[in-house]
Amino acid sequence: MSSSAACIFCKIIKGDIPSFKVFESDKVFAFLDIQPLSRGHALVIPKYHGAKLTDIPDEDLLEILPVAKKLAIASGATDFNILQNNGRIAHQVVDHVHFHMIPKPNEHEGMG
Ligand code: 5GP
Ligand code: ZN
Repeated sequence: MSSSAACIFCKIIKGDIPSFKVFESDKVFAFLDIQPLSRGHALVIPKYHGAKLTDIPDEDLLEILPVAKKLAIASGATDFNILQNNGRIAHQVVDHVHFHMIPKPNEHEGMG
């Protein structure tokens, strides 16, 4: 298992930094984004530490999307975005691979 002592998301996985956890398995951890773009905005991450998608073994990546799918269903949103940024030019801020699951509430909802 790859882990980085300096990584904020590795600290969240270990529980050294608090988070609102919504899912955990052997390979995957998911928690609510601290600055949500909508209600239910979650981050789904491999426990394996790597900055970019290209750093993560396929066997770990394969378990990510089913979790994002479960969280999308649990959010109740019919529409949602799954986003994953790699590198500064692509707007990545935290250097531990993460998939955003962002529910898109209809125009009458907002943050609720
Ligand atoms: P990026 O731009 O790297 O794709 O997105 C990083 C995301 O991580 C941002 O949406 C930001 O709000 C979230 N984030 C950064 N630090 C923390 C933290 O300490 N806790 C949580 N829950 N989310 C964080
Ligand atoms: Zn990490």
